[in-house]
Amino acid sequence: MKLHSSGFPVMRTVRTVSDLRQTLQAWRADGDSVALVPTMGALHDGHLSLIKIAQGQARRTVVSLFVNPRQFGAGEDLAHYPRDEGRDATLMREAGADLLYAPEATAMYPTGFATTVSMDGPARGMEADTRPGFFAGVCTVVSKLLLQTGADCAIFGEKDYQQLIVVRQLVADLDIETRIVAAPTARETDGLARSSRNAYLDQGQRSRAPRLHSVLQEAAGALASGAPPASTLDDARRALGDHFDALHYLEWRDAETLDRATLLDRSSRLLAAVQLGTTRLIDNVAVSPAGKTV
Ligand code: AMP
Repeated sequence: MKLHSSGFPVMRTVRTVSDLRQTLQAWRADGDSVALVPTMGALHDGHLSLIKIAQGQARRTVVSLFVNPRQFGAGEDLAHYPRDEGRDATLMREAGADLLYAPEATAMYPTGFATTVSMDGPARGMEADTRPGFFAGVCTVVSKLLLQTGADCAIFGEKDYQQLIVVRQLVADLDIETRIVAAPTARETDGLARSSRNAYLDQGQRSRAPRLHSVLQEAAGALASGAPPASTLDDARRALGDHFDALHYLEWRDAETLDRATLLDRSSRLLAAVQLGTTRLIDNVAVSPAGKTV
């Protein structure tokens, strides 16, 4: 194996579909399977945990780094989204990635690009209510990444739970053969889900942020131990609304379909989004009939 001067294996960077496919074809000729980890960069331990999971799923790991303009709405943070490809490349190489795929926006969406992949079902409500166009942007770029790589599996974080279910629906509906693997949410020690956007929080906001997870956990624990759902959800909504600058949603949904949950007869999930200053935080926890929450 070729080693970089840092002692870690060499990781190549490619920026075009033809270079990507050339590398993947060589790997496939050697019989190697391929896992894809799609990211928008600004890597943190959550992303690195996905790269670790990928290594257990396939012989080769490709990490894509693409800040997808199509999933940002007007007034969102596309222009300020943290970008540092050099730092990200070092972190992913140290985590064991074999290839960085970092296309330019003009290569992904050349002049004349005219296709949008849109979805109903799980792509309705919650994130879509506050971020119109978000899931069309996600579905379009994920379709392209899966078709460009032909990956055997792709790793997505439960942190973005609605997105994970949307991607599962996408591959089922479009007969894409890539297996979607879910990765548990990586958290700070105080429970805050790791996110590239946590960098936007000032010190005061950072100390308020973990309440999102603790309110979700308390409500999930109450539901799991048989508390009445309507008042439990009302109380949790009030707690989040009082603590944060705005509550975008708090929903109790079936863990597989994202249909509204009403009874504890199937595994379900509590999902929420709040506003803290100019930063939007999302999180979710499992509600299991056994009374266990994660
Ligand atoms: P992003 O770069 O934010 O688009 O995220 C890329 C991938 O990392 C997505 O599949 C996310 O769900 C996943 N991810 C982001 N934050 C976390 C986290 N704290 N724990 C696990 N996965 C995460």
